Amino acid sequence: MELHQLSITELLDRYRSGAASPREAVESVLTAISNGDGTIGAYLSHGAEAALAAAENADTSLPLGGIPIAIKDAINVEGQTTTCASKFLENFNSPYDATVIAKLKAAGAIPLGKTNMDEFAMGSSTENSALGKTTNPWDTSRIPGGSSGGSAAAVAADLAIAALGSDTGGSIRQPASHCGCVGLKPTYGRVSRFGLVAFASSLDQIGPMTKTAEDAARVLQVIAGGDINDSTCLDEPVPDYLGALNQGVRGLRVGLPKEYFIDGIEPGVKAAVEAAVKELESQGAEIVEVSLPHTEYAVATYYIIATAEASANLARFDGVRYGHRSAIQPESIVEHYKNTRAEGFGEEVKRRVILGTYVLSSGYYDAYYLRAQKVRTLIRQDFTKAFENVDVIASPVAPAPAFKIGENADDPLKVYLEDIFTIAANLAGICGISVPCGFSDCKGSRLPVGLQLLGKPLGESDILRAAHAYQQTTDWHKARPFE
Ligand code: GLN
Repeated sequence: MELHQLSITELLDRYRSGAASPREAVESVLTAISNGDGTIGAYLSHGAEAALAAAENADTSLPLGGIPIAIKDAINVEGQTTTCASKFLENFNSPYDATVIAKLKAAGAIPLGKTNMDEFAMGSSTENSALGKTTNPWDTSRIPGGSSGGSAAAVAADLAIAALGSDTGGSIRQPASHCGCVGLKPTYGRVSRFGLVAFASSLDQIGPMTKTAEDAARVLQVIAGGDINDSTCLDEPVPDYLGALNQGVRGLRVGLPKEYFIDGIEPGVKAAVEAAVKELESQGAEIVEVSLPHTEYAVATYYIIATAEASANLARFDGVRYGHRSAIQPESIVEHYKNTRAEGFGEEVKRRVILGTYVLSSGYYDAYYLRAQKVRTLIRQDFTKAFENVDVIASPVAPAPAFKIGENADDPLKVYLEDIFTIAANLAGICGISVPCGFSDCKGSRLPVGLQLLGKPLGESDILRAAHAYQQTTDWHKARPFE
């Protein structure tokens, strides 16, 4: 195997035995990118020089010493562009490191490249990027999922050792599922959001996208923890995720929400997820039916709260201090805003800003935003109740495998429904992981399917340990698209 094909654990072993150096690994990833990223389109920029320079001085005794990591282009890396895949920020050069980047660097990791995404993380297919097209490595006529589609495609196609994504309603777990890699959304507040361009601040979390659950534990170990620059970040101690990995699932209570195993799930997805649950059972997990009765309201609730927060967060893009500024000479400041925002934002972003402004406007606030907040509480209570009985909840990540590029271009509502199994976790603030659990044959394509394991608030150890146990007896995570 070449270095770019390895996991973090394998690469660290090579470094520590002297069989490879960080410079060789960075070069291997860069070569893989120049050979393979023409068809995949995972990256918006590479930052090759900075990565090579960092590799020279990497201390391989550190937890992620010399490990190159791709970064979703919504996260600031000092001296590199942070575009959010938007024309608005196409030339924005970040003056500082996000907290997660500072923590990665302190742990010896090397940021390598910024990955494509849906503009401002709004979408489920990466088709809303204004700056490039990303394809699914398993079938390049299909979407990689989104919004962290570039990170997922890079990891799955061995164009990255590991990556960071962000998840507001599924944007780490869903592309991980569609591309066949691991994606972990931490509990809200587990990881600092400082330096992540805000989409919906009460839902956004940064998390790892990796080749194995063990690698996800390694990255989370480094990026988790309190931060004075993010007041919503929890100052709770960070447990030993790696140490807890090998405890197995004997006696672990796994809940199956009856509302999640519904008609309409593609048969190949259902079969793969059910087989994965059986595998956990055969390892000693106890399978229990649970109920999440407010599931049917999750999509509507999310698209009110997320758009409301987005409309407020995106108000800062006014063409005054940074980002795109219209060249048209305006008659007034309002006209300047209008021109700038009309030129800078793509269609989906505009749709969300309009929707979000509407649900917050006087006369509609009570009917939409306030009511959605109340339903959010009910959804959170569903999980609190279910977790009285079980340690983790298992479900599909998405109802069907990756769809064709362009297939849903005229139907945003259909794409919103992609999020049915992932967004409730964000509304409830709990953690979740997507783990490759098989393939579905879809009109001639063999497409990856993910198993979602949801955990209690700060229950990352439970979902990582179940995911790791599953990967000890299955090989789905080792499958590669080009074999
Ligand atoms: N697909 C969802 C949306 O479009 C979630 C996106 C995300 O998690 N960033 O809003």
